[in-house]
Amino acid sequence: MKIAIASGKGGTGKTTIAVNLAKNLAQQVQLVDCDVEEPNCHLFLHGDKTETEVVNLPMPEIITSRCDGCGECSDFCEFNALATFGGPPVIFPELCHACGGCRIVCTRKAIVEVDKRIGIIDSINVDKITFLQGVLDIGVQSAVALVDKLKQKNDPSIHTIFDAPPGTSCPVVATLQGVDYVLLVTEPTPFGLNDLKLAVLLVRELKIPFGVIVNRMGIGDRRVHEFCEKDAIPILMEIPDDRRIAEAYSKGHSIVDVFPEYQNRFKELSDSLFKNSDKKNGGNSVLRSNKSGDLYNIKDQSIV
Ligand code: SF4
Ligand code: SF4
Repeated sequence: MKIAIASGKGGTGKTTIAVNLAKNLAQQVQLVDCDVEEPNCHLFLHGDKTETEVVNLPMPEIITSRCDGCGECSDFCEFNALATFGGPPVIFPELCHACGGCRIVCTRKAIVEVDKRIGIIDSINVDKITFLQGVLDIGVQSAVALVDKLKQKNDPSIHTIFDAPPGTSCPVVATLQGVDYVLLVTEPTPFGLNDLKLAVLLVRELKIPFGVIVNRMGIGDRRVHEFCEKDAIPILMEIPDDRRIAEAYSKGHSIVDVFPEYQNRFKELSDSLFKNSDKKNGGNSVLRSNKSGDLYNIKDQSIV
């Protein structure tokens, strides 16, 4: 079972949910921090780093002595990462997606690929949690490539929780692709509602079943609830706006460690999300979504 924790905006408590869910799962779990531009799951997880992998991308480099300025490469590049003005092309590395296409179309073999570092992936063991985090190098804009690399390291034999970047941009789409279920974390404010609507549009476009967690209940108003009710979106958990939780968060403590009463609530949530994954069928989930986005068990049709 692969579950992603996402939100239309930052600061909603997405990482809090991801970490507490992982900590409260009874079995081995993989937690993958895909918020590679500002990863922060590690602030709540203290374990032994087992590996740091440097991630490189193959970027084009021009051998000017072989180039006749034909422009085939820049015509091919749909990301406008190459431009020719009669001579060897100019490369705009920040636009390059390292697809390798320009090297292939250049019949004069004037393009070679050189590794360019974009970031690292840390592997950390924290009790029963295998924790992976991607860290994008400063000034690098290849977040999607690093998210893809992170997901390639995912062990499909164990449950995985992906902490997605905030928003609805390309790194979020890259994180959500292929997951079985998405938990959208929001807060009950007009801002939370606005960004929740964007996130709902995204997961519906991707056809992934989803539910909502409302964090900081007590601030704002009921418009998030009314929206979810009207669209038949399940609200799976509500967490109150509690100063004690904020204080624990500010000290790098997770909710379940400081407030044991939350262990049951996160256990119920994780049970409802993970219990129906069918390990006997090679880990394939038996959960599907109906038209309303509710998660149901295809064996007995029960709504989860
Ligand atoms: S396709 Fe090759 S030869 Fe043509 S402009 Fe590009 S690098 Fe130069
Ligand atoms: S590798 Fe792909 S994206 Fe990068 S410049 Fe070449 S064609 Fe464009």
